[in-house]
Amino acid sequence: MSNRRDFIKKSTLGAIAITTALGHSGFAATKEDEKGNESGIGNKQKKPVIISTWNHGLPANQESWKQLKAGKPALDAIEAGMKIPEADPNVRSVGYGGYPDREGKVTLDACIMDHNSDCGSVCFLQGIMHPISVAKLVLQKTPHVMLAGQGALQFALSEGFKEENLLTAESEKDWKKWLEDSKYKPVINIENHDTISMLMLDQDGNLSGGCTTSGAAWKMHGRVGDSPIIGAGLFLDNEVGAAAATGLGEAVIRTAGSAMVVELMRQGKSPYDACKEITERIYNKHKNHKDMEYLQVGFIALNKNGEYAGYSLRSGFNYAVSDDEKGHRMEDAKFKMSWDK
Ligand code: ASP
Repeated sequence: MSNRRDFIKKSTLGAIAITTALGHSGFAATKEDEKGNESGIGNKQKKPVIISTWNHGLPANQESWKQLKAGKPALDAIEAGMKIPEADPNVRSVGYGGYPDREGKVTLDACIMDHNSDCGSVCFLQGIMHPISVAKLVLQKTPHVMLAGQGALQFALSEGFKEENLLTAESEKDWKKWLEDSKYKPVINIENHDTISMLMLDQDGNLSGGCTTSGAAWKMHGRVGDSPIIGAGLFLDNEVGAAAATGLGEAVIRTAGSAMVVELMRQGKSPYDACKEITERIYNKHKNHKDMEYLQVGFIALNKNGEYAGYSLRSGFNYAVSDDEKGHRMEDAKFKMSWDK
């Protein structure tokens, strides 16, 4: 627990330290901002807006923002941003350098979705540095939504991707240490970066999103989490809003998490209220469940007006936000309870 507390402390400090501005640094907080942006008030009709989970969302947002402002299509901008944590060996929960499964294999899940509800997804993909790029090609070049395992790899190779070893010496060392007692307890909220999920409202006012992850550390070989599953790890309806998840994928799949957040926004809830209600629902369904001990889930949501929010079951979840008004920054999500409970 003390590690978790340390990380939470670090995340708050980190969030303050890495707040940057895009040129509106003199922006004065409105009454609504003081009430908290979590309700999305004060962000009306704003575009473009990009939000992404965790600290590694910040460099991803910055790159995606740059691409968007250069006139690149939304999916290209999402891909460019997400490739940054995928290639970063210090991000231990995404792509290269991600924690392996219990057999020492790094297996990757990713998906992408556009404003027409077209989507592409890969799961249980091994040896490819950029699963988000493969997911985008599944969307653009195949009649399908999802390719898995060997089939996904075969498709990636046929599209010119290179196979490479994604298990870094560091991750191998941690895996060997884990093998000493091989007790499964998924590491959620590791060093403040898990799955990166990104939601975007582009300059035309269209929504899109993506997710990429190496999934829960020490999972069974073959396990697929929520992140590549449209409706669980990511969902959007361009008429309403977009939502994405991080945390224990099993819990998010059981509850169709992101799809439900979008449905609540369709019924008129704010992004904050929608994220909170689904998190509460997950808590209620799991409070006597075997997964409760390490259960963490977090959602981000963005609606058509550019209003956004994040909410998590337990403390420690933060997300990156980029808009014209306040630049690139980290925001801490509100949460239901702390880890000590
Ligand atoms: N949702 C991911 C999974 O279960 C992991 C995470 O975001 O922490 O695979």
